[in-house]
Amino acid sequence: MYMITRKDFLKKSSMIAVGGLLIPSFLRADNSTPKIFGNKEFKPLVSGKPLVIATWDNRKATEAAMNKMKSAGTDLQSGTSLDAVEAGARVPEADPEDHSVGYGGYPDRDGFVTLDACIMDEKGNAGSVTFLQNIMHPVSVARKVMEKTPHVMLSGDGAYQFAIEQGFKKENLLTEKSRLAWEDWKKKNNYIPVGEKNHDTIGILAIDERNNISGACTTSGWAFKMHGRVGDSPILGAGMYVDNEVGGACATGTGEFVMKTLGSFLCVELMRNGRTPQEAVEEAIHRIVKRYDYKDIQVGYLAINKKGEHGAYSIKPGFVYALNQNGENRKLDAESFVK
Ligand code: ASP
Repeated sequence: MYMITRKDFLKKSSMIAVGGLLIPSFLRADNSTPKIFGNKEFKPLVSGKPLVIATWDNRKATEAAMNKMKSAGTDLQSGTSLDAVEAGARVPEADPEDHSVGYGGYPDRDGFVTLDACIMDEKGNAGSVTFLQNIMHPVSVARKVMEKTPHVMLSGDGAYQFAIEQGFKKENLLTEKSRLAWEDWKKKNNYIPVGEKNHDTIGILAIDERNNISGACTTSGWAFKMHGRVGDSPILGAGMYVDNEVGGACATGTGEFVMKTLGSFLCVELMRNGRTPQEAVEEAIHRIVKRYDYKDIQVGYLAINKKGEHGAYSIKPGFVYALNQNGENRKLDAESFVK
């Protein structure tokens, strides 16, 4: 339970000095926002490291990630949080039953499965791919972009060519099930992308034994989107962001609104300025709901800080997440703005 009330927080934040600096007004709580930090009964700030957290019920992914960290040797090279988030993200990428990520992902409205992903390590290195086709593990291609090129983001054919050069295999990612779902969508919809219900993008964050934070995000994006559409997931600061001094955050849901508010970067900056992870994710959601019509959209955020505390919040009920911490791998319900 929070030890701090909204009133206390605002009082504190108006005088607050973090590292001797006043919090800039644009990062302060907005008094006009309804229900800000109204979620006082939310779970305690559990802390404990190592930890892995992921959007949706991705417990298999958080387990794979935790196993990776447990296998850490003394070489300081293995079992890092970076290895962990990559291993975790690869789980739904290879799962044909996950229709929002990788293999088996729903195609765009023209029938192409196009993938977006990014990854970021504790040193602030980052890699990203967008609009990548026929490669099952975009998160691993993103890591190669980070490690083997002077760039951060590769897109489309260029990303594909690079993946092939790096030894990735060309694969057909459109399963029969997803193809049939697309055929069905075509019959019912007039070639118009509509806010789809399925948002199972994985955003994953980890802190390892060495207290280093990394993150990744991977998706096939908005089902039956326009050809060429890229969402928030591969955009550093939108779909995911890490700053090893502070913490990390990741997003799922209607990426257009995450991009317009640069939600993951916002969460990290809010934590840098003294907010708990829960306060940060709530504020990031409030930035969306006070500015945009949120009737037909869903966005969910996760955030962690250096202490191993986490926050989870969404616009609407139904956002669940996986947390692997203190020897338990749990599925948890996030609180939401709309009750
Ligand atoms: N955020 C993803 C996107 O907009 C979709 C999702 O989370 O399901 O591409």
